Amino acid sequence: MNWGKVLFMHELPVTGEILKTVLKHAKWNKVSKVVSVCLQIGKLSDLEDEWIQHYFDYLSKGTVAEGAKLKIERLPIVIQCQSCRLPHNVEASQLAEWTCFGCGGKQGELISGRQYYIKDMEVQSCERFD
Ligand SMILES: [Zn+2]
Repeated sequence: MNWGKVLFMHELPVTGEILKTVLKHAKWNKVSKVVSVCLQIGKLSDLEDEWIQHYFDYLSKGTVAEGAKLKIERLPIVIQCQSCRLPHNVEASQLAEWTCFGCGGKQGELISGRQYYIKDMEVQSCERFD
């Protein structure tokens, strides 16, 4: 089984997409400053936490998200067997040798592991009540 194509992902475009989404939400909600962003990233993506933060800092300069702290949670890699539909939690190192423990099949579909989500954002609003 060839997993080469699912392992390919670059930090910079992904971080740009994350920032774009953060800024869109910030605008809708009239946010004056984004304090932190909680991200969920699949374990299979090659995104390194410190590089995501580094790129985010670089890309967010001059926006309401400048200086925001990223909190990154990793989501497990899950493969579903194509014959018996049994889902398996696996580590990246086990992918090449993967065999279904239910039916012994070797054809699996990756259903989690390379996605990225914005789970939550901590913000300061423009509206003042003083
Ligand atoms: Zn199976």
